[in-house]
Parts: sequence; C-alpha cells; structure tokens
Amino acid sequence: MTLYSCSECKKVYPIEATRWKCECGGLLNLLQSESDITQNNWTSQRSIWRYASSMTGREYLSGWRSITLGEGQTPLLELDESEPNTLIKVDFMMPTLSFKDRGAAVLVTLAKQLGVNKLIADSSGNAGTAIAAYSARAGIDCDVYVSTDTSPNKLAQIRAHGANIKTVRGTREDVATAAQNAVEEEQVFYASHVYNPFFYEGTKTYAFEIYEQLGKAPDTLLIPVGNGTLLLGAYYGFKELLEAKEIENMPKIIAIQAEKCAPLAKAFEGQDLKETPVVNEGTVAEGIAIASPARSKQIVEAVRETEGMFITVSENEIVEARAMLAAKGFYVEITSAVNYAGYIKYANAKDEVIVIPLCGAGIKSPT
Ligand SMILES: *Cc1c(COP(=O)(O)O)cnc(C)c1O
Ligand SMILES: [Zn+2]
Repeated sequence: MTLYSCSECKKVYPIEATRWKCECGGLLNLLQSESDITQNNWTSQRSIWRYASSMTGREYLSGWRSITLGEGQTPLLELDESEPNTLIKVDFMMPTLSFKDRGAAVLVTLAKQLGVNKLIADSSGNAGTAIAAYSARAGIDCDVYVSTDTSPNKLAQIRAHGANIKTVRGTREDVATAAQNAVEEEQVFYASHVYNPFFYEGTKTYAFEIYEQLGKAPDTLLIPVGNGTLLLGAYYGFKELLEAKEIENMPKIIAIQAEKCAPLAKAFEGQDLKETPVVNEGTVAEGIAIASPARSKQIVEAVRETEGMFITVSENEIVEARAMLAAKGFYVEITSAVNYAGYIKYANAKDEVIVIPLCGAGIKSPT
C-alpha cells in the first residue's frame, strides 16, 4: 500500500484527491511498503509506462492506457563524433515538446483514477502545457496559473488544449500562491509538479531510460534546476537502480542554474541546508527562474550525496550555447541551452561519460 508521508513530521496520509501538503505545512513524499526495481517486470511498451512496475504508487496508475500520449523513450545520442563520451538525451521529443510530459502523464493518470473532474496547476509554461494536454485527454477540467510574462507560444499551447489560463501579475511565487489559494477554495486536485510526489515517479523514468540505453550508469548527469523535478526524478531513479544492484556507481549530478537566479547554487556553496530565497534578476532562462524552490533541501542533499556540484551560467553563455546547439542541428528553447552552457564550463568533461538533457523544443521560446 502506498501513502503520502510528510518530509518534516513523518505523519502519513492516504492518497486522496485534495491532499497536497501536510497539516504542518511540510512537503509530501511517497511511502510504499515494497518497491520493485527488477528489470524483469519492465515491459516492451515504447513509452514511460514500460517502467510502470517500478513506479511507487502504481496501484493508483493502472488506468494509464487511456491517458498516455506516447511520452518517453527519447533518443540518447552522441553530440559530436569527436566526443563519443558526451551524450545528449533528446527529451524535447515528447508529445508537448518538453520533459514535463514524463511527470504530467503520471499525475493526470492519478487524478483520473481518484475520480477528479477538475484540477489546478501553476507553471512557468511547460508544466502547465503538459498538464493541460493530459487533462484534455482525460476529460478533466484544467485551470493553469501563469505569470503575465509567460512565453506566448506556451500560452497558445495551453489554450489549444482547452485549459483556462489564469494570469497573475507578480513573481513565480505569487503565481503559485494564487493557484494554492484557488485549490483550497474550490477543494480540487492540485496538479503541482513541485508538491505532488507522483510527478517524480514519472521523471524517474529519465534514469531508467538512460540506464537501458547505455547498459550502465553514466559517470555524470548534467541537469538544469528550477524546481528540481528532473533532478530529483533522475536521482531517485538511479538510487533505486543502485540499491537493486543493477548499477555499480551512482552518477554524479552537476546541477545548472542561471547566474541571475541561482538560490540553490548559493545554498550549495554556502554549505547551507536549504535555499534562502533570492530575487530573480531576470534571465532568458525563464523555465528555471525559481527564486525559492520548495524542495530545495532535497535537491541540495541529492547533489551533495552524489558528490556533484552546481554550475551557474551567464546570459551570454546561454544565448551562445543555444546557437551552438542549433548549428549542430538541435533547436532548443532558450532555457534548455543552460544545460549545454553548463557542459562547456564543466572542466572534467574529457574522461567521463556525461549525459546532457535537451529539455524543451526551440519553438517554445518567443524568438
Ligand atoms: C521545467 C523545465 C526545466 C527545469 O525543471 P525544474 O523541474 O523546474 O527543475 C528546465 N528546462 C525546461 C525546458 C523545462 O521545461
Ligand atoms: Zn508534517
């Protein structure tokens, strides 16, 4: 049986549609009596659902067949012949063109199974797009809270799926607060990629795919961090593989943030337990501009435990990296160029097998 468990006070709750945080305010994690990582149970599905048997809370996810849009099983390729150890995971090859589909497919499958008929999400763009698409497929009403400066292309995507866009003037944190107030008022499902731990059962498949494609764990994962949903998913996935002795080493996680909004990099450097909120000074990497990530403690701990580090990249470096990727044939959204910019700065590159995700497609950015 799977339960929600508070990361602060350890109180447990049944999985219910309107439960999204602990009474003490703490974040919820998933607690399951047994986990099942053995590959034997993985199926031949060409999607994230190949790994359904390894998802915690899978008893709430059996209805995935009517929700899936074919997300997952993205290519892992050499970026350049001359650097065979540097691999890119083309995770924008997804139904809504970003990696968020991994988590959104799982979250909306859960909502459907809990009998939800309306849900609310908040997003800087891509998570809202993904939740809107899967909600449309599931026949669930969807409100997406976004800030006034969200990329028009992302808004067009959300609107096309029939979701209601609720625009909030203010910071990304103000947008989240508005969504949470509405969730409390309307008593509906909060399809939050940050708060709902089922989202990470989806992003975990990023790790499982890399493991299957390589036949082992890479030495190093470069991962962009805003709220840390890809980072934590990858961490949990590889950790489970390690505990099941499917792999011998835990990949080092190198987390990338934009210099103009880098609360986690600052916390890591200062040996702090969690972030101190920063002011977002404005960055072209809109998708990771999170001034106060809710799961900061878990993210910083994960990076420390893997003996990884943080790298920050400047606005120029991001823009240049995007052009360099396009020159190699990969057109990514501006946010997604931080990953390659971080790679260029990462000094140890030569002797390690490194995986860089390309998280979002180029046409999502305004220019
Ligand atoms: C969401 C997103 C990120 C950052 O993911 P977090 O979960 O916020 O850390 C990075 N790049 C793209 C393209 C995204 O959509
Ligand atoms: Zn609690």
